[in-house]
Amino acid sequence: MSSATEPLPGTSDCWEPEVLDWIELETAAREIFHRYGYAEVRTPIFERTEVFVRSLGDETDVVQKEMYTFTDRGGRSLTLRPEGTAGVIRAVADRGLEQGEEARVFYFGPMFRGERPAAGRRRQFHQVGVEAVGNDSPWMDAECIAMLSHFLDQIGVTGGKIKINSRGLPEDRPQVSAALAEYFTPHAPGMCEDCQRRLTTNIWRMLDCKNPACQEVAAGAPDLVSLMGDDTRAFFARVCQSLDSLGVDYEVAPRLVRGLDYYIHTVFEITHPGLGAQDALAGGGRYRIVLPGAKKPVEGIGFAAGMERLLLARASLGRQTTAVAEADIAIISLGENAILPGLRLAQELRATLSGLRVKADFTGRSLKAQMRGANRSGARLALIRGDNELAENVVLCRDMTTSEQQSVPAADLMAWIDERRTTLFA
Ligand code: AMP
Repeated sequence: MSSATEPLPGTSDCWEPEVLDWIELETAAREIFHRYGYAEVRTPIFERTEVFVRSLGDETDVVQKEMYTFTDRGGRSLTLRPEGTAGVIRAVADRGLEQGEEARVFYFGPMFRGERPAAGRRRQFHQVGVEAVGNDSPWMDAECIAMLSHFLDQIGVTGGKIKINSRGLPEDRPQVSAALAEYFTPHAPGMCEDCQRRLTTNIWRMLDCKNPACQEVAAGAPDLVSLMGDDTRAFFARVCQSLDSLGVDYEVAPRLVRGLDYYIHTVFEITHPGLGAQDALAGGGRYRIVLPGAKKPVEGIGFAAGMERLLLARASLGRQTTAVAEADIAIISLGENAILPGLRLAQELRATLSGLRVKADFTGRSLKAQMRGANRSGARLALIRGDNELAENVVLCRDMTTSEQQSVPAADLMAWIDERRTTLFA
């Protein structure tokens, strides 16, 4: 394959039958999230850059290193969305949310991050996510995590590990940051450059550095929740108690912070052993976001799961993609005169026989060449007509599996196929 036809690094083309797996995943997500009273929203793939910078925080890896930002012809700075929450919150704010009113929504779609491509890490990837905006209840957090767990069960992704923690409230941060500074300062010289910078810019992020040496140091850092105020600890305890009461399996990860600055209170992540080095399947948490131009922050809870990784995790559990044929019925037209009747027959079949794929050959090639094409498409039935069949008003029906052939009056064709539908297309 020449490089001119290959997709860019970190992106890929997706063909059937994989496309059918994606559709199945989306259908299951819609079905489950609807059961919880969430409605689907579709927001633009690009937004004003400030939508992301303001809500994700400018000290985050995503904003600092990974955004696809460009200037459009009108001189505006725009960014391909690196995640779903900021755009959804903008959309909810644009619609207006009255005091005390909630929005519960879910979304699917491509996200873009300029990361170094690796197995399970792409530059265009896809997420399915939810946001419940306009609430400040710990029970909402518990329901959201339970919904994610329900969704994973429904799509057959078992064996994931749910880890939760609290990022606390802004008023908890000074004492946590001070304790982290006390712990990290003596270790800093042995840590990566990013962490040395984070020591003064965003010390919490030292806890989730990907560098193995930094991770080793971070593992000994103090337990965050124990440093937080009574209200925060009570909020977190409610989330944990509710999850226990719902029977959701999770563990508390005392140093989990997640990468984005907008989080408050509950943060969570699901890892899966089938994913290899990039083992994060989904992540989320409670957030408070101030949008550009807005006076008050919007609070909500949400999560996003990587769709490629959901499919990888499912495949690691032995779930195979079922191959499907391009066509069930091939229409073969021999000679110029048969082509238009072939086109009409194909339309009639599609109007009558739902669920079957019908492909007509308009090339006027030889019978042999058209049969070869029909075979390649996986068709189980070929309907053949040339001048003779048209004159006699019959269709030659060939069972592609047994090679048996029968001449059927055109008027009886639909009934003939219908009678054999289960055996022919089993
Ligand atoms: P994040 O917002 O980074 O926590 O992303 C949520 C989920 O999206 C992760 O748990 C992954 O499953 C998926 N994800 C994030 N970044 C990538 C990427 N570059 N390639 C593939 N999947 C990703």
